[in-house]
Order: sequence, then structure tokens, then C-alpha cells
Amino acid sequence: MTTPFYAPPDAFDGDRVRLPDDETRHASRVLRHAVGDVVAVVDGVGGWHTVRLDRVAKDRAEGVVVETRYDAGEPASRVIVGLAPLKSADRMAFAVEKAVELGVTDLLLLDTARTEGRIPKPERLHALAVAAMKQTLRSRLVRFHPVRQLGMAQFLADTGETFLPVLLHEAAPDDAPFPTLLAQRGRSVVPLVGPEGGFTPEEVDAARAAGWPVASLGPRRLRAETAFVAVCALHLAARISDAGAA
Ligand code: SAM
Repeated sequence: MTTPFYAPPDAFDGDRVRLPDDETRHASRVLRHAVGDVVAVVDGVGGWHTVRLDRVAKDRAEGVVVETRYDAGEPASRVIVGLAPLKSADRMAFAVEKAVELGVTDLLLLDTARTEGRIPKPERLHALAVAAMKQTLRSRLVRFHPVRQLGMAQFLADTGETFLPVLLHEAAPDDAPFPTLLAQRGRSVVPLVGPEGGFTPEEVDAARAAGWPVASLGPRRLRAETAFVAVCALHLAARISDAGAA
């Protein structure tokens, strides 16, 4: 399947769509599409559109939508994970990209006591989300939610579904492996990965007091982005094995 183009919902007018400037350049100059070509266009809100191009110029590419499918390439339910923004912009970009590839639908950007990294600018997050969505043939953009750790219960309550935040902690007891928890609680688990300096003892205590499990990924102290990719991959593996689809 070829990589889709991205056009936001406001690029659609009835059954017509006009590609944004950067996608137009890619379509006309790089891929050398011509009138009559049929391409895929995702809108970032779940629509996967088959489009026949009827105008292709250096500065304008548009066409008619001949078919639309919804939520192509998307997990059957929300997949929420949390990460404290990393100090390195490159490592943060890597984490966002891998989260999208592994099927995350909502990324909580955690403001914790030891968070030192900054939340990337919205346009940077958007660009990362679009590129990863196209690469993985998804149709819905990942949503970013800046939250304070203690405000998270409210955020999750607002989703209207039952989610269980789980604090990932390198000093969690040996009897609390994250994969076991995931096998028991499935999709409802929302793993939270701390900053480079880890969660503070007070944050770990507060999590326990709130009834949130504190879970381990084994005896090694992993980099935050490694722990994050591991929990996203474990989440994906659990979805594949319990539903036959991710
Ligand atoms: N506090 C530690 C230190 O500086 O010594 C390290 C924190 S670790 C680099 C960053 C985050 O990765 C942690 O807050 C935790 O969420 C996650 N993490 C790393 N290794 C882990 C493990 N073995 N089990 C569970 N979580 C882990």
C-alpha cells in the first residue's frame, strides 16, 4: 500500500479535496503525479480517502473523493500512554514517532517534579504526528495532552471510560511486573513513564495512595525513552493477542 497524503478536514469541500502546499510539492515534484492518478489521502480524524486527481500543478493539487473508509489502521479503542518530556529534542521526537507507530492514540505529556524537558512546540508535535501517521498507514492523528500527574485522574475520568494509570518505576518491587499487570487489566492500563531523573518518592507514594499500581520492567535502569517504547510495544502485543487486531 502506498503512503497516503495528509490533508486536514478543512481541505475538504464536499467530495473535493485540495492538498496542502507541502503535500502538493511532494505530489507534483517528487512523485510526479498527473491528472487521473488515484491516491490515498488521510485527514487525521479517521478518514482514509481514495482520491482521483483532476488538477496537478506545482502550486495546486486537487481531486475528487471516490471512496472513504473510517478508522483504517486504527486500534479498536483508545491507547493512552504518558511520558515526561525528555531533555533531548531528538530523543523526544524518537519517542513520539515510536508511540504513533506502535498504535498510541493519546500521549500524555507529564509535568512531574523532576521533568526538565520542555513540551515541543505544537507545530513540531503536529509535524511528527503527521509523518508517523502517514508512515504507519494510520488515519487518525495522535492527540497530545499536557497534564500534571495529579491532574491525570480528572483527565482520565473526562474520557468517560475506565482507565487505570500505572506508574513505571525502576525501584518497583520484583512482584509487580508490568506485563503481568497488562495481562490482567488489558487495554484499560495507562502506563506512565517518568523523566530522566525518575519519579520522586512522594510521587510514588501519591500514586499508591490513589490506588495506582507501581510496576516494573525488570531490574535494569532503562533510559526513559527505552522504558516508554517498551511499554508501548507491550501494549501493542497485548492488543494483538487479545483481539486479533491492533
Ligand atoms: N531515577 C533513576 C535515576 O536517575 O537513577 C532513573 C529514572 S529512568 C532513567 C526514567 C524512567 O524510566 C523512570 O521514571 C521509569 O518510569 C522508567 N524506567 C526505567 N527503568 C525502569 C524499570 N526497570 N522498570 C520500570 N520503569 C523503569
